[in-house]
Amino acid sequence: MKIDILSLFPEFFDSFLEWSMIGRALKDKKVLIHNINIRDFSKDKHKKVDDYPFGGGSGMLMKPEPVFAAIKSVREDKSRVIYLSPQGRTMNQRLVNELASEDHLILLCGHYEGLDNRIIENYIDDEISIGDFVLTGGELPAMVLVDSIVRLIPGVLRSEESYENESHYNGLLENPQYTRPRVFKGHHVPEVLLSGDHKKIYQWKKKESLRTTLEKRPDLIKTEKLSKEERKILSEIQIDSDKRI
Ligand code: SAM
Repeated sequence: MKIDILSLFPEFFDSFLEWSMIGRALKDKKVLIHNINIRDFSKDKHKKVDDYPFGGGSGMLMKPEPVFAAIKSVREDKSRVIYLSPQGRTMNQRLVNELASEDHLILLCGHYEGLDNRIIENYIDDEISIGDFVLTGGELPAMVLVDSIVRLIPGVLRSEESYENESHYNGLLENPQYTRPRVFKGHHVPEVLLSGDHKKIYQWKKKESLRTTLEKRPDLIKTEKLSKEERKILSEIQIDSDKRI
């Protein structure tokens, strides 16, 4: 997979691209990431990239010519051009899984008051938001997107870090987890996790994943998407909690 990031502040990405999982993925050539400065495409002698909005209004807008030229410099037939935008569809794991199967992503980061709308209407395939709030620029959202995608590329995560059991991948939240010590300030690790009984541990994890989802994010539970086993466990949890009330 190749990812081209177009922004006015490529320096923002320096340490992000160097460290941890992303740094490893780049070193192992699991992904190619290029960081492109939109300002380099300005024909203006002062490298100006923004201007006042027609019709008035506060702030400045990114001019269309350098943004268009930056996209054109990297766009290929199979590219998917994404504008990080608070007006886009909200990112979730399903969308991330879909993007992880693309060959080439172009991530366009806005700044100031955003982009001239002719770019959005004519040269963008998707607008993606990381949530219903406004940030100063698209650089942090681009990093969020890149991190969530790259960890799904086969071979990027080490086997012990696999993502299949993590929250959201299968529509549920992950079960609670514990590490040493067995007793911390009088709080004990659940006994079953120390039992070495793999079947019991598997069943406990399944039940606690469902319980956690029911308690923290009941909106995620789509009964029709659960397996027969999961539906049975869910009704046991509901009976348990009714008894507790
Ligand atoms: N004037 C724009 C509006 O009201 O829709 C907001 C512009 S914002 C200050 C500047 C840039 O930050 C945007 O062009 C976009 O790239 C990025 N941005 C801000 N919030 C975002 C979000 N929630 N998700 C993705 N990108 C965001």
